Amino acid sequence: MNTVTINKTVPVKAHYDVIVCGGGVAGCAAAVTAAKRGKSVLIIEKSNILGGLATLGLINLFVPMCNGRGKQIIFGLAEKWLRDSARYGYDTIADVWKNGEPLEYTEERYMQRYSPYIFALQLTEEVKDSGADLLFDCIACEPVMEGKTCKGVITESKSGTEYYSCDMLIDVTGDCDVLRRAGMPTVSGTNFFTYIGYLINLESCAAAAESGNIRKAYKGVCGGSVNLYGDNQPADVPQWSGLTVEEVSDYLIRNQRLMLKNLKKTDRNSRDVVMLPLMPQFRTTCHIAGDYTFTVGDAYKHFDDSVCAINDFDHKDHLFEVPLRTLCRHDYPNMLTAGRSACGDGYGWDLLRVIPPAILTGQAAAEAACLAIDTGVGVADVDIGKLQNTLEGDDIMIHFPDSYVPEDKTVIIHGVSQNGHF
Ligand SMILES: Cc1cc2nc3c(=O)[nH]c(=O)nc-3n(C[C@H](O)[C@H](O)[C@H](O)COP(=O)(O)OP(=O)(O)OC[C@H]3O[C@@H](n4cnc5c(N)ncnc54)[C@H](O)[C@@H]3O)c2cc1C
Repeated sequence: MNTVTINKTVPVKAHYDVIVCGGGVAGCAAAVTAAKRGKSVLIIEKSNILGGLATLGLINLFVPMCNGRGKQIIFGLAEKWLRDSARYGYDTIADVWKNGEPLEYTEERYMQRYSPYIFALQLTEEVKDSGADLLFDCIACEPVMEGKTCKGVITESKSGTEYYSCDMLIDVTGDCDVLRRAGMPTVSGTNFFTYIGYLINLESCAAAAESGNIRKAYKGVCGGSVNLYGDNQPADVPQWSGLTVEEVSDYLIRNQRLMLKNLKKTDRNSRDVVMLPLMPQFRTTCHIAGDYTFTVGDAYKHFDDSVCAINDFDHKDHLFEVPLRTLCRHDYPNMLTAGRSACGDGYGWDLLRVIPPAILTGQAAAEAACLAIDTGVGVADVDIGKLQNTLEGDDIMIHFPDSYVPEDKTVIIHGVSQNGHF
């Protein structure tokens, strides 16, 4: 490939204790948490609203945060934000969970479908009220490295090319944009043909008006509609890593053309498309090759360096703990990740990346970064007992109670037994 060399002198804008690249739910949780610890924080978001896939990408469902037997597992900011989303917008919380953990056994799961745009507005308020600085419409591009230590990050925005220095950098771009360029080893995934927006039509608006519930006005409208497990992925459509501009464009063009083809078959006066996903609905683009790879084989295991307990959103009972090692590497002392690019494999990656765990790992990454700054060590070397105490103070469950572990520990995912992994 032909190349050009660009030599640029770039203005140094400011120094921050913690820079968070990416304003998805993991990034917002990280920024709010570090700012509340008294650190100077900058969060850099390439789009115009916060929330990432959970708002911009229209993925507006807090998946279940309980074990499917009436016991809540996921708390912390995930619990707060689930409740806030129900306070400011419509809610779908099951009656038994409306007032907190039910007193009686229930198989109803604790989950919430929310208004993505109202949640985005709420995240802006949360982040700004925490004291963090926020840059919208700004891309975190290149890290400036001294060996494997990050000195800061180059940004591109309306202001041009600029540099911000930092003590700690948390890359929560979902794609490891900065960590990859820092040379951190990463692993890429593939993504199915999925593109879901919302429309309103005459029937849905009538149903909303009749019930007094605006949520009933929205209906899904698809380009590709392949589910989490890849069921019905068309043979003639590729799967995309999502890590090149050509792949992202191919994914968007194919999906948008298919959506329009489907819409052309319906009466143009009877419906309108009101929300399109404004970022690609890629589930798994890139995660770090962290010090530990989380898999479903970790079901029911306790970890000494757990930073949060999580549950399987799609199957009852399965409980997990997330080791700090999934968020960092020993050889990169001041760079870490959370959310979609935490180190997991297969369905384990799916469990780590969904909205509630992404929020918790965002909190954990920020607390680890703050502790590393305060104690002058690398993030992988923080005093794990101190970190866990702090996270418990943030209302996060670190170890699931053994009383929640079922007698039959067989783990079946989408009909397939995973016993081989144990
Ligand atoms: C089709 C689909 C269905 C899903 N269904 C559910 C579901 O029902 N429930 C659920 O809980 N989860 C679901 N998920 C998963 C969940 O939405 C995401 O994994 C989660 O929201 C990821 O959060 P994040 O903060 O880690 O990353 P992201 O949401 O990807 O956020 C990354 C942010 O970084 C920004 N960014 C990217 N690059 C840069 C850069 N270079 N500089 C600055 N900013 C940058 C992006 O604009 C974005 O705001 C689904 C995902 C998909 C794709």
